[in-house]
Amino acid sequence: MAPPAESMVHGSKASPKDLPSIDRLLHASGPAAWVAEHGHQFVAQQARELLDELRRQAVAGALDAHALQPAAVEAALQARCESRLTSRMCAVLNLTGTVIHTNLGRAVLPEAAMQHVVAMMAGPNNLEYDLARGGRGDRDSLVEELLCTLTGAEAATVVNNNAAAVLLTIAALASAHPGGKEVIVSRGELVEIGGAFRMPDVMASAGATLVEVGTTNRTHPADYERAITERTALLMKVHTSNYAVQGFTAAVDEAMLSAIAHARGLPLATDLGCGALIDLSQWGLPKEPLPQEMLAAGCDVVTFSGDKLLGGPQAGLIVGSRAAIGRIRTFPMKRALRMSKLPLAALEATLMLYLRPDRIARDLPTLRLLTRPAESIRALAQQLQPAVATAVAPRFEVTVVELLSQIGSGSLPVERLASAGFALAPAGTARKGVGSALDALALALRQLPLPVIGRIAEDRLLLDLRCLEDATAFVAQLPALAEALG
Ligand SMILES: *Cc1c(COP(=O)(O)O)cnc(C)c1O
Repeated sequence: MAPPAESMVHGSKASPKDLPSIDRLLHASGPAAWVAEHGHQFVAQQARELLDELRRQAVAGALDAHALQPAAVEAALQARCESRLTSRMCAVLNLTGTVIHTNLGRAVLPEAAMQHVVAMMAGPNNLEYDLARGGRGDRDSLVEELLCTLTGAEAATVVNNNAAAVLLTIAALASAHPGGKEVIVSRGELVEIGGAFRMPDVMASAGATLVEVGTTNRTHPADYERAITERTALLMKVHTSNYAVQGFTAAVDEAMLSAIAHARGLPLATDLGCGALIDLSQWGLPKEPLPQEMLAAGCDVVTFSGDKLLGGPQAGLIVGSRAAIGRIRTFPMKRALRMSKLPLAALEATLMLYLRPDRIARDLPTLRLLTRPAESIRALAQQLQPAVATAVAPRFEVTVVELLSQIGSGSLPVERLASAGFALAPAGTARKGVGSALDALALALRQLPLPVIGRIAEDRLLLDLRCLEDATAFVAQLPALAEALG
C-alpha cells in the first residue's frame, strides 16, 4: 500500500522496521513481570496483536515515531493486557429513578441470597440429591415447599424466567392436549412485554392456537363461553402489567373465569408478570394481584417473575394444582428451561425472607428502596449537593429537586413514587448547545469507575437518589468526574 502523502511531508512517522520483536518486547522488565503474573501465552498473544496493529499503522504512514519508543510500546501493551482482563460486566449506580430496571439487572439481590449463592457455589451441594434417601433428587424440591407455604399452592415448579414459565405452561397444558390446542385469551390481554415477547407469538412458539375473545376494552363471561369448543385446551388470563386499560372497561375476573373453565373440565392459567408475594399497600404502595389470591380464586396455574417485585434472581415461578404442575414438571421442554444452581440458591434465600414479613421491608432491597421515604431521599440530596456542585462547576449548576420514581419492569405502570435528587443544567450555555453539553455530562458519568446512570429530561440531567444506598461510593467518584469535565 502506498503511504499517504502526509507521511512524506512529516519526517517523524514510524517505519515498520523500527518495531521491536516479540521476544525483545517480552523480555523488557515491565512485560517480564506481567509474564510472571499472567503466564507467557496471554501476554505474548496481546503483544502479537499490538505489534500487528502498530505494523499496520506504520505501513499506512499513520504512526508517529515516538509511539515505537520502548516505554510507549510497553505502556500500550500494559493497557492492552489490563483492558483484556477487565470484565465487561460491571457494577453501576442506578440513579435513573426506576427501581426495578431491566437494563440494569432488575432486582438487587438481598444480602442473604448473595451469601447463600457464595456458600453453595464454593463446592458440591445437594442440587439434585436426596439426602434422606441417599439417591437422585429433584432440584425443584429445594424451593417447592417454600413456594407452597407462601402461596397456598398444592405444588410448584421453577424455570429460567417468567417468559419460560408462560411458554412451558402453554406448551404442557395446550399443545400436548389430546383434544385440541386452542387457548382462549381476552383481546384486552394480548400483551407485549418488551424484548419481542408477545402473547400471540408465545402461543405460536408453544405450539398452541390462540383464540381471541372480547374487545380491547371489554370482555364478558359469554365471550369465553361462546369460544369454548371440543378443541379448547386452556383458558388464560394475562395480567396487563405494563399498561392500564382505563375508562369504559370490563374484564372477567379469575373467580368467574375459573368457574366457567371448571364447568367444562378445562384448566385456567394466569400470568401475573410482576409477582408480588405480599400486599404492598401496607407500605402505601399500590396493590398488585397476589399469586395466593389467584389460586384462591380457582386458577389452576399462576406464573410470575423472580426478579421483579419479588426482589430475587431471574426465575419463572409456577404454582398451582398438583395435577397441572405435575403435567408441567414432566413435560420434556421443562428440562431445557430448568433453573441453574446459582439463581436457585438465590431464590431459596429470597423466598425465605418472606417467612418473616415483619422484617422484609428491611431485608429485601427492592422493597427497602420502594418504601424509602421521600424526606430521607431529599435530606440525602441536600447533604450531597455542595460536593456535587463543586465537582461539576463551573460548567454545570446543581439543584435539589423533587422527582417521581417508577417501580419499573412493567410493574404497576401508572404509579409514581415521590422522590428527590439532583437536576444538573449547563451554566450559561446557549439554548442550542444544551443537548450536547448534557450528553457529554451523561457520558462522563457513565465512564466513571463505578458508572452513574441518570436520565435526561427537559434540558436537564436528573439523578434520582432513591436507589443510592451507598453514598460514600458516589462521593468517592466526584474528583474523577471533576477531572473528566476538565
Ligand atoms: C415481565 C413479564 C413476563 C416475563 O417475565 P420475565 O421474568 O422477564 O421472563 C411475562 N408476563 C408478564 C405479564 C410480565 O409482566
